[in-house]
Amino acid sequence: MKVTIIGAGIIGLCSAYYLQEAGYEIEIIDKSDLSDGCSYGNAGMITPSHFIPLAAPGVIAKGIRWMFDAKSPFYVKPRLNLELAQWLWQFYRSCSKSKALQAAPVLRDLNVFSKLCYRELATNPDLDFNFEEQGIMMLFKNKKAQQAEIETAELANELGVEAKVLAHGALQRYEKNLKLDVLGGVFYPGDAHLYPNQLMQQLIHYLKQRKVQFRGKTMVKNFRTENNQVTAIQTLSGETIPVDNLLIAGGSWTPKILQTLGIKILLQDGKGYSVTLKNPVNRPSIPSILAEAKVAMTPMGDDLRVGGTLEISNLSPKINPKRVEGILESVPHYYPELKIGPASTQDVWYGFRPCTPDGLPYIGKIKPYKNLSIATGHAMLGLSLGPVTGKLVSEIYQGKKLSIDSPLLDPHRF
Ligand SMILES: Cc1cc2nc3c(=O)[nH]c(=O)nc-3n(C[C@H](O)[C@H](O)[C@H](O)COP(=O)(O)OP(=O)(O)OC[C@H]3O[C@@H](n4cnc5c(N)ncnc54)[C@H](O)[C@@H]3O)c2cc1C
Repeated sequence: MKVTIIGAGIIGLCSAYYLQEAGYEIEIIDKSDLSDGCSYGNAGMITPSHFIPLAAPGVIAKGIRWMFDAKSPFYVKPRLNLELAQWLWQFYRSCSKSKALQAAPVLRDLNVFSKLCYRELATNPDLDFNFEEQGIMMLFKNKKAQQAEIETAELANELGVEAKVLAHGALQRYEKNLKLDVLGGVFYPGDAHLYPNQLMQQLIHYLKQRKVQFRGKTMVKNFRTENNQVTAIQTLSGETIPVDNLLIAGGSWTPKILQTLGIKILLQDGKGYSVTLKNPVNRPSIPSILAEAKVAMTPMGDDLRVGGTLEISNLSPKINPKRVEGILESVPHYYPELKIGPASTQDVWYGFRPCTPDGLPYIGKIKPYKNLSIATGHAMLGLSLGPVTGKLVSEIYQGKKLSIDSPLLDPHRF
């Protein structure tokens, strides 16, 4: 049996990994040259601690304030567009405490399962992607952020995700390399991190060696269908590729791809930036998130990556230098010995996080097509949830009982 996968991001590759393990023949099609994209330049954090969805109570009020600050970590590019309006409406409806509490155990289960998968992948002698289980620190400077982080830590402990609320001195004992200038923080010992660029390249190499076929620089434009089955893919260059089973893991482009099949899903791109310092003299020993600034700092191998910002940008490739400045300028407020930047445009990486309105991914079959599934919408958690998503996709095609089964993941839920 063959599965064709559109999208060679982390979700497509992990799906290929577990499907080929289950004995499927796999072909992966991607419009890129398989060397970059959202799954490469991200912050590399594997985060059981992130069980609160993007749509959470208080986000709307904060988001509106941030819209008027050029260096803030959040922005929606204003435009008259029905899909954006519908997405924003559903996002607004999802920003309630009850919805967040419903989502939290599902995100926890996905995250915890996925981290265990990474632990297993890291023991594969053919894969070496700097997987480190050192935890991460949420650092805060002011009382308001402290209050919010303590509440999240309490909920984490209730949900079985270990969280230690620490004052400055205790935190400093974890962070051995650099002085911290913070009020305190929460340490999540169960989190991990890795070097995503290495993971992606190694997965591609590993899958190629196992006869997975890759077609890079191939843009899917249309489909042929018959009796509620997708029978072929048509590419921009005019090729027709026959299909037995199809998985669409097209990240932020998935709505465009599905549109040609007459299917609508609510999904917006959340553009983010990162800058990677190669072999810097100073770098933190443990990854952290700067709570007020919403900036992620991750030591990766010998390098340091700093990333942040979420702009609903309509897939705009423009780099907004003010927002990048905002990310880099926040760093010395927390790590006074670490001054970064300014970065030139060619040093700035950007990627589009595929964001659903409720912060939970879409994983499942797509009606009315009998041989079509999608896996996307992982927003800030795509790297973390790659392996568990791949496992679920493989279970879907095998007709097995799903390891994690929730109506909150249904692609038709809106
Ligand atoms: C700054 C930043 C920091 C982040 N940090 C983290 C983190 O620390 N931890 C974490 O878990 N997540 C993080 N993320 C999120 C994570 O990177 C994404 O959720 C994840 O990469 C999405 O993976 P994907 O496979 O769904 O999409 P993508 O990686 O975007 O892959 C989709 C693929 O589909 C292809 N495609 C699209 N349309 C077509 C078409 N028509 N024909 C052929 N191919 C097509 C694209 O070329 C692309 O390669 C971060 C993101 C950003 C931007």
